[in-house]
Amino acid sequence: MPEGDTVWNTARVLERALAGARLTGSDFRVPQLATTDLAGWAVRESASRGKHLLLRLGDPAGEDWTLHSHLRMDGAWRAYAPGERWTARPAHLIRVVLRSPGAVAVGYHLHEVALVRTAEEASLVGHLGPDLLGPDWDPDQAVRRLAAHPEQSIGEALLDQRNLAGVGNLYKCEVLFLRGVSPWTPVRAVPDLAGTVTLAQRLLAANRGRWTQSTTGVLRRGGTSYVYGRRAQPCRRCGTAIRKEELGERVTYWCPACQPERG
Ligand SMILES: [Zn+2]
Repeated sequence: MPEGDTVWNTARVLERALAGARLTGSDFRVPQLATTDLAGWAVRESASRGKHLLLRLGDPAGEDWTLHSHLRMDGAWRAYAPGERWTARPAHLIRVVLRSPGAVAVGYHLHEVALVRTAEEASLVGHLGPDLLGPDWDPDQAVRRLAAHPEQSIGEALLDQRNLAGVGNLYKCEVLFLRGVSPWTPVRAVPDLAGTVTLAQRLLAANRGRWTQSTTGVLRRGGTSYVYGRRAQPCRRCGTAIRKEELGERVTYWCPACQPERG
């Protein structure tokens, strides 16, 4: 599940593969950029903001541009050596190819692919709340933004990237389990919002630099989460069957005994 940590890792992959290089070619398989050719463009750096990827480029005239992409539920970028076969996903899912002398970056099933002036990045990411994995992470601001909608369920509020940027469904479910809070609890009734966002940040940060997402400290298959993806399995803390239900537009997993309803 691409969440803030996955996107952060992906930004590092693109940084290692392309930063400092001059592109020798590009292939955009998205209608809005079908005629764009980035041959001769310099790759300056690769960054992430919440779940958004920002590849910063310089055109031959020295102007700054940003290639934006979003992974949503299913997107991925992979770096290959020149001449290596692109085997990560089926070819029909390829949306962007960026070629450099040392590496080829292939973007699969990307969403919101856009090329904008770097000075106008805010038009794409300016609405986001503080980035859990950003250098400017600000837990107080995240708490203020959450608290501004006191009747919203905490399960939906944590997923709203305008409150804080980087939490997806997996971390939402896991954080609320660890805090003993039902996902349906209104924000105003959550005992410690600051503790909740701080824990979310710690869980994402712990998974930087690896592709296995674990909130338990266990990396083996079947052991990586407390509640996420574990419907009907026994709670690791109390043995009660984990439940799964829709909450807003997403499903949520929780332990009805460890996470009693409040408010
Ligand atoms: Zn339990």
